[in-house]
Amino acid sequence: MDTVTSRSTHITTQRKTTATMCQHQPPCPTADSADREAAHPVAHFPEQGWSLLCNGVLLFEDTGELLPDGEIIAPHRPLDSRSITTAA
Ligand SMILES: [Zn+2]
Repeated sequence: MDTVTSRSTHITTQRKTTATMCQHQPPCPTADSADREAAHPVAHFPEQGWSLLCNGVLLFEDTGELLPDGEIIAPHRPLDSRSITTAA
């Protein structure tokens, strides 16, 4: 008897929410919290315009965000007509 299902127990390494390795006190807000931008930055790449926060959120300098689960938060900078750049 050959069983095709015998290999299915091999793949168990893909977990969804493992980005929280926070060791700060008090702990940083989680990525799904409204407060997520208050997490400590753990990596900063000003030349590329983004920071990696402790909770796994990528925070871009235009205030856009990329969450650990792949969700994209649109930039929510304050309305200021002077900051509109006319690139053309
Ligand atoms: Zn933290």
